[in-house]
Amino acid sequence: MNHHKPPAAARTVHPTDPRYGELVSGMNQRWTARPDHVTLVSTAQQTREAVQEAVRAGKRVSVRSGGHCYENFVSNADVKVIIDLRDMNRVYWDPAHRAFAVEAGATLADVYEELYLGHGVVLPAGFCYSVGMGGHITGGGFGLLSRQLGLTVDHLYAVEVVTVDAHGRARLVTATRERHDPRRELWWAHTGAGGGNFGIVTRFWFRSPRARTGAPGEALPKPPAEVLLSSVALPWSEITEEDFTRLVHNHGTWYEDNSAPDSPYTALAGYLIMNHRQNGTIALITQSDATVPGAAALHADYLAALTDGVKAAPRPLPAPRRLPWLRATRMLGTSVTMLTDTTLRGDHKSACMRRGFTDDQVATLYKHLTTTDYTNRNAQAVLHPYGGRIAAVDNAATASSHRETVFKLLLQTFWSDPAQDAANLAWTRGIYGDLFAATGGVPVPDRRTDGCYVNYPDTDIGDPAFNTSAVPWSTLYYKDNYPRLQRVKAAWDPRDIFRHAQSVRLPG
Ligand SMILES: Cc1cc2nc3c(=O)[nH]c(=O)nc-3n(C[C@H](O)[C@H](O)[C@H](O)COP(=O)(O)OP(=O)(O)OC[C@H]3O[C@@H](n4cnc5c(N)ncnc54)[C@H](O)[C@@H]3O)c2cc1C
Repeated sequence: MNHHKPPAAARTVHPTDPRYGELVSGMNQRWTARPDHVTLVSTAQQTREAVQEAVRAGKRVSVRSGGHCYENFVSNADVKVIIDLRDMNRVYWDPAHRAFAVEAGATLADVYEELYLGHGVVLPAGFCYSVGMGGHITGGGFGLLSRQLGLTVDHLYAVEVVTVDAHGRARLVTATRERHDPRRELWWAHTGAGGGNFGIVTRFWFRSPRARTGAPGEALPKPPAEVLLSSVALPWSEITEEDFTRLVHNHGTWYEDNSAPDSPYTALAGYLIMNHRQNGTIALITQSDATVPGAAALHADYLAALTDGVKAAPRPLPAPRRLPWLRATRMLGTSVTMLTDTTLRGDHKSACMRRGFTDDQVATLYKHLTTTDYTNRNAQAVLHPYGGRIAAVDNAATASSHRETVFKLLLQTFWSDPAQDAANLAWTRGIYGDLFAATGGVPVPDRRTDGCYVNYPDTDIGDPAFNTSAVPWSTLYYKDNYPRLQRVKAAWDPRDIFRHAQSVRLPG
């Protein structure tokens, strides 16, 4: 068990240190900071001390856990001190809270491997093995098991946070979801408002609300022992516009029809990965619970429904592989080079979808994915599964307020040469602006769309040049929960110590 690793002393890295260059940027190489120093902490107390020292010196701080932020919220020119939690990655059973304690610097790999191999349980978290818990959980992280088991934050019991009060004193506080806890609102704000808003989380505790006994093996859900995993590749050389339209409409209709909390299809989740034509293929990656009754038929029916009438789809459809759950998760989370390469630059945009795309939107997707003016093979529009058990929870019960969403769109592109920045940004901005042209360039919360996902942050949605709707970025991320988040901000970070381009603003 990895909780026996002894904590090291905090280490401070200055600009003259050869390691400095490694520590001042995260995954996305577009963002680099020039801080006075980076402090690598190993304990909550060291984190509190690092915050106190920065506040005393009047230096702006930011916090890094896994370094996967799409925007410059951690690594930006104004930050003077980065507090880096990567060494705080212990995952262990805490009998005092009858919950799993997970330090904020743990990666999804640490969490999946330790919870499952140690105790047979799981958190329904995201895809990429190297994502950090500090950002992932605070933003309401989700993944392939979420239709079956809910969002990660639906299982969050408590948070330990370093906050700074009105007098500039850094304190370490614990907030739980217990009804009588006077700090409950601080817990609530950490169930989907995103990182870098209220303080630095040092530790999370997880226990499902429905866990009855005090035993570790009962505290969180169990993943399927085995899953069915399939990958269907449709060659762009054979995909006509008619085929493409059919496929995208099939997808939308399926998720509209099969995303209720009690649907038998909560046992299944699929990605539709619409790569730019230059890439060669469009892919359908599907995972389902192999242990439910009729599992093989559920899986086959889904693939048949999505590819119905699509001439470019292989016939017969490839049979899924049957794999132990952890093996499938590890393979998916480590094998996509574009997502694991830490030398790339990236740009990302999101939309929460309550309904499938309209005819106009499908035509827009087709046009931008097949354009010959822009030929980056690492450009894609990915549709992520949502709904199912996620929809069983009220929008106000957690700060994750997109419970009516049935799938999420992630538009993204990766490249390495800074000279290509303008062309890549033009592509994501063009496709996104055209897709949501009818609603001011953004997916405003309405009957069809449901706003944007804060864990896929995008500063353009706060820029009037791109968002011409009357709906501010804060409503796109948080809908009706925003005023409540602002009250938490006023109570717990009255000096706005923890801030970035899209942090929750103080009221007024
Ligand atoms: C390849 C890839 C795959 C992804 N797949 C998924 C997915 O399947 N599902 C999904 O939901 N999301 C996914 N994401 C998005 C991911 O959840 C977010 O990028 C998340 O915020 C990353 O957290 P981090 O700790 O790694 O990032 P960091 O860059 O360290 O931090 C991200 C944000 O959180 C803040 N923060 C970090 N640590 C703390 C802390 N300890 N306390 C308070 N605030 C903190 C930072 O200030 C920053 O604003 C993916 C991202 C990538 C790059």
